[in-house]
Amino acid sequence: MFQISCPWCGEREQSEFKAAGEGHIRRPDDPAALTDAEWADYVFMRKNPRGVHFERWVHIHGCRRWFHLARDTASDTTLKAYGAAEAPPQFGDNNPPAAEVTAAHPGDISAYDGGSDEDALLREGGLR
Ligand SMILES: [Zn+2]
Repeated sequence: MFQISCPWCGEREQSEFKAAGEGHIRRPDDPAALTDAEWADYVFMRKNPRGVHFERWVHIHGCRRWFHLARDTASDTTLKAYGAAEAPPQFGDNNPPAAEVTAAHPGDISAYDGGSDEDALLREGGLR
C-alpha cells in the first residue's frame, strides 16, 4: 500500500484509486493499415519495467478524475502524478518515446485543447 498524490485532491491512500494500465499508449493513425502483428502489439503488448513506469489511474473514490502517475515499480513509490493533458516528467531511460508524446495526432494528449481529462484519456486510448 502506498500513497498517491491526486493532482486535484492531494495525497490519499492507494485504496481510493484504480489503476488502468500503462499510460501514453496512442491509437495508431491508420489502424486499417496495420498488419495483424502490429495490431496485436498495439492491443496487447505493454511494458513491465523494473523502475520508472508511466501509468493511468483514476481517483475512483474521490474526484473520479483520470490522471497519469510515474511510479517506481522496484520500490513501489510514486514519483509524480500529473494531469492527462500534461507531458510526462522525464526520469532516466524509461520515459515514454518522444514520438508517442509529441506527435501531432487527434488522440495525442499533447495536442489536447479542451474537455475533461477523462476525455483526453479516452481519446488517447482510441475510444473517442
Ligand atoms: Zn482526486
